[in-house]
Amino acid sequence: MTKPRVAVYKMSSCAGCQLEILNLEPILLDLLGAVELSYFVMARRENEPGPYDIGLVEGAITCGEEIERLKKARQECHLLVALGSCACYGGLPSIKNWQPQRVVESRVYDNLAAIHSTTAYGIDYYVPVDAYLKGCPVSREELLDFIKSTLLGVRPYLRPHSVCVECKLHENVCLFVTDGAICLGPVTTAGCGALCPSRGKPCDGCRGPANDANTVSLAQTMVSHGLHHSDIMRYFRKFAGMTPEFSKGAEAV
Ligand code: SF4
Ligand code: SF4
Ligand code: SF4
Repeated sequence: MTKPRVAVYKMSSCAGCQLEILNLEPILLDLLGAVELSYFVMARRENEPGPYDIGLVEGAITCGEEIERLKKARQECHLLVALGSCACYGGLPSIKNWQPQRVVESRVYDNLAAIHSTTAYGIDYYVPVDAYLKGCPVSREELLDFIKSTLLGVRPYLRPHSVCVECKLHENVCLFVTDGAICLGPVTTAGCGALCPSRGKPCDGCRGPANDANTVSLAQTMVSHGLHHSDIMRYFRKFAGMTPEFSKGAEAV
């Protein structure tokens, strides 16, 4: 039987989500028994041309050249998947969207003549996307679940609830209630096992908005508890500020 062909593309990103694929090391050989990693520049010396069955796209789209590469990826992949929060929502690169482009660029580059960056968006701003694997970085378990589900032809498990639910299942003390910390757990998609609150750090919202997230209510509640407007705004804009839900949360304060 022919194995499904997988392509991994990199746009504007830190490569951390691609690294998570390689970090599947203990089961990577099993995975390679089930799929053909045909195009993966970070892992292969020579890469094979499309078409591919599954395309995993890492990174936000922040320039014209990436828009063209993304459109080509869409054409050559049967399923196109946003790999990690940069590709899902713009992620960390979208922090730059809240200041004038030239101001941000001049902080990084001496010579701006060759720099033509655009507003950072997730990939579905430009092309249709079939699945979203959230997180910064993406969750290995969800990535594997997605690949297995695709191979079996079933729908992957999508978590409808928030990080708070996982936090309670871990019997954590609430950092918002006890420490007055800004925590986006109530409005953020579960799936990380409440990784940060379980280690004493509030949730930064890296997985983006949960279903029916009432970000305005959360923002207003935080303000009423004396938390600072600009801090709340920065939290909402850190990973998924381009989503309507987190955008509303940022603007509510
Ligand atoms: S989602 Fe996070 S880990 Fe993945 S590429 Fe973007 S910044 Fe890196
Ligand atoms: S610490 Fe954060 S994630 Fe945990 S219950 Fe409190 S608000 Fe929710
Ligand atoms: S707790 Fe929040 S910030 Fe931490 S990994 Fe989970 S979703 Fe991301």
